[in-house]
Amino acid sequence: MTPSSHRRRLPARRRVALLGTGLVTAAGLGFLPFAMRADAGAVDLAHAGLAAKDGWASSGSGTTGGQAADKAHDITVTTRAELVKALRAGPSGAPRIIRVRGRINANTDDQGRPLTCADYAKGTGYSLAAYLKAYDPSVWGRSKQPSGAQESARAAAQARQAERVGIAVPSNTTIVGVPGTDAGINGGSLLVQKVDNVIIRNLTFADTRDCFPQWDPKDGSEGNWNSNYDAVTLRGATHVWADHNSFTDSPHFDASNPRYYGREYQVHDGALDITNASDLVTVSYNRFTDHDKTMLIGSSDKDTKLRVTLHHNVFQGIVQRAPLARVGQVHLYNNHFDTTARNGYAHSYSVNARAGVQIVGQNNFWTLASGRKASQLLSGDGTGAFAGSGNMVNGAVTDLVAVHNAANSKKIKTAVAWKPALSAGLESSAANLPASLAARAGSGVLK
Ligand code: CA
Ligand code: CA
Repeated sequence: MTPSSHRRRLPARRRVALLGTGLVTAAGLGFLPFAMRADAGAVDLAHAGLAAKDGWASSGSGTTGGQAADKAHDITVTTRAELVKALRAGPSGAPRIIRVRGRINANTDDQGRPLTCADYAKGTGYSLAAYLKAYDPSVWGRSKQPSGAQESARAAAQARQAERVGIAVPSNTTIVGVPGTDAGINGGSLLVQKVDNVIIRNLTFADTRDCFPQWDPKDGSEGNWNSNYDAVTLRGATHVWADHNSFTDSPHFDASNPRYYGREYQVHDGALDITNASDLVTVSYNRFTDHDKTMLIGSSDKDTKLRVTLHHNVFQGIVQRAPLARVGQVHLYNNHFDTTARNGYAHSYSVNARAGVQIVGQNNFWTLASGRKASQLLSGDGTGAFAGSGNMVNGAVTDLVAVHNAANSKKIKTAVAWKPALSAGLESSAANLPASLAARAGSGVLK
């Protein structure tokens, strides 16, 4: 049995009840094994803070989110309009709990009516056909970025969608899905920007999609279509705990994206991107499925800070960036990476170590699909480091860096100048992770 990584302070009444049933162990009052917590049932999910030593977000002042919210700032929401209103109610920074009941569609107007891509484009003059005609490389060339009427119209339409789907989260906030309601946000992008102390739990983030991808003829040798909106974006954010959420492109898989100018018309961006000097972040027990560019840690080689812990997450049907990490001190433990292709998403690599990042990877499990090699699990630019041990490939402990370096010219370093101290719940073997995380990770698990 895994020790609890989610220590909670129980209300006095519950402590008495537990004492009465003899459930209190030497581990202490608030530190119950997982099964007992599940049995307890009355633990208040919305008021839970991050446990001591549970990853980087537990350092310093820790992460309590909206734990101290008063009644006026403890709000249940069922629509985008209610969600936005609740996030803005009262003084910015006042502790607040937002309970999401059911699935919210971010592409809706203030009356809750669904908005389509055509609705956003209306009145801007944008049309995909006209855009494609204007910037076709055979007409526009490849030496300069799109500009002029159609590009301006595209940007205007995109700004209208951004105003709907981009949802800013203030400091001292907990956003939590109400158990048993399939809680989540379709098509939304939570913006956790320049704020401190935010908890995001028990939510499904589905198909965050840009209606207006932009053509960049100079991205790569053939150009690329790029889109905006990560399901969750952290920029300059500190003390953030993302826990027991699910991230997926479903029901709009990339395989259904058309190709224009010979390139995929990519409508999805990141699932959970942590950039622009974000710091002290714990990402635990999430499920990332069916997505391409999954998680950036650091948006450029000049980014700073970026101390992030990822533990007990599941990655399935992920093409790349799980994560792509730069600069910071990143702790990866007890995650399960399944490289089996699904729903058209074929694995490229899992963890990319760049720009001097110092990753410690302990006791993670990789399920290697047939046709994939252990040397393809890591990637790097020759400056990043990946230390740690106990990582398994199909159940066998494997030195991932040695295998990678034997097959690739850009070597990954193994020395890091820090030692993880915040690793609550670290399991000493990865062997059981595929089975145990299948039942423990993602939204809908917490009661
Ligand atoms: Ca992008
Ligand atoms: Ca992004």
